[in-house]
Amino acid sequence: MQTINKEDIKCQIEEKIIKLNDDILKLIDLTKPISPDCAIGRISRMDAINNKSINEAALRQRKTQLKALEFALNHVDDTDFGNCVNCCREIPLGRIILMPESKKCVACASR
Ligand SMILES: [Zn+2]
Repeated sequence: MQTINKEDIKCQIEEKIIKLNDDILKLIDLTKPISPDCAIGRISRMDAINNKSINEAALRQRKTQLKALEFALNHVDDTDFGNCVNCCREIPLGRIILMPESKKCVACASR
């Protein structure tokens, strides 16, 4: 059994979701279509396009993470929550919060 407080986990996951939503809103703003504005010049336009694809990748990653966190939040009360799907050992809370999409402990995930 996990010795960690589930309410605590929920709080931390919720906090992370709020932060992620914030990030996502900023990234959506940054990935808006670039207007063919001559004023910014050719080189800065290329920069803008470059940054846009970086931000788009970041946005995709955040959205995946958000889904995983929401999933984790809905399953905090499950009896097997926080246990490695592979070896059934407890996954440290820090790892659950950082990588909710990972359902394996560090040892199993690196195997
Ligand atoms: Zn494991």
